[in-house]
Amino acid sequence: MNYSFLAPRQIVFGWGRRAELGTLAATLGQRVFLVSGSRTLERTGVIDRLIADLASAGLQVLGFPVESREPEVLDVDGLTASFRSLNPTANDVVIAIGGGSTIDLAKAAAALATNRQADSVVDYLEGVGRGFQITESPLPFIAVPTTAGTGAEATKNSVVSSNAANGDSSTKPYKKSLRSDLMVPRLVVIDPELTVSVPATTTAYTGMDAITQLIESYISRRAAPIPQALCRQGLQLAVPALAGVVADGTLRESREAMSQAALLSGMALANSGLGLAHGVAAALGVTCQVPHGLACAVMLPTALRVNREVSQARLAELERLFDQSNSRDALAADCFIKRIEQLCRSVGIPERLREIDVKRVQLQGLVAGSRGNSMSGNPRDVSDDELYALLEQLW
Ligand SMILES: [Zn+2]
Repeated sequence: MNYSFLAPRQIVFGWGRRAELGTLAATLGQRVFLVSGSRTLERTGVIDRLIADLASAGLQVLGFPVESREPEVLDVDGLTASFRSLNPTANDVVIAIGGGSTIDLAKAAAALATNRQADSVVDYLEGVGRGFQITESPLPFIAVPTTAGTGAEATKNSVVSSNAANGDSSTKPYKKSLRSDLMVPRLVVIDPELTVSVPATTTAYTGMDAITQLIESYISRRAAPIPQALCRQGLQLAVPALAGVVADGTLRESREAMSQAALLSGMALANSGLGLAHGVAAALGVTCQVPHGLACAVMLPTALRVNREVSQARLAELERLFDQSNSRDALAADCFIKRIEQLCRSVGIPERLREIDVKRVQLQGLVAGSRGNSMSGNPRDVSDDELYALLEQLW
């Protein structure tokens, strides 16, 4: 056995525990850069209450409301410039409250606030730019997720897109990561009550994202003992809970189960990587603007069938979390794939790429756009020709 394991230094989990944010943040600094991505939480007064709590803990709060879309290069560069203009020191803390997009955006800006070799995040992104690394500790970063899905609160990367349609015409579109072990959030405050107002489709997409992450990390070629234990627990929580909480978002136990599963999925993927579903999902996001969780969910059954032979024993282990009756691995693995397909149907995930507005002529571009860090974790190699054939079948 031979592995490393990386996770946030402190995790605070519980219904209503956002109330402790002031006390917790005061142990990390004196000035707070509060990045919020949820207009709903602003309208309902949650953000104002949070600002009051931070102030009464003696903190000076500067607010940065941001768009809740998946972050673009220009969004990261803009927020980074704002942080840098405030001459940040180690006494400044960044708090991100929002979905995975907001957390990724603030996490990137917290890192680039102290890493100043270049003005643009482009020069730090994997596979693009000048290949600069994050070498200085980012500003202390606190993640407060308001959806249950991406696990961004526990990961060491930010996913950043460049999309010509949004004003950045310098290159062709891409979706790449800014990544460093130093970027793992210092503190994570998970209050599942914050997810109660999330609409049903977002609950379904983000929940399927967490489930895809848990499965892909479990069968990844970089799978390791601690993340696998987390994956098993996450799937035991999420698979039975998701359909119910999509139907009724007020179910407290199910919301808690999904928040916990999302956290575990982030810890797992940060250490074990992902696979084919996430590889293609990145391309679907860039090329066809498909929301991340939906893209993962549409791809998941195909990704499982592709890896069915090489991952048979592991897929059988996952099936036995729910049903011990199949002693033969081959049968159990097939049952697990069926179980996941049924789950996708039960929360309204379409079966075909054409149903999520993918055009047939885009398939070749999707193949090229799927090669990245996620795909490198897939349990077996998939050639461009095979991937094209898979996408054509799924179209
Ligand atoms: Zn994901």
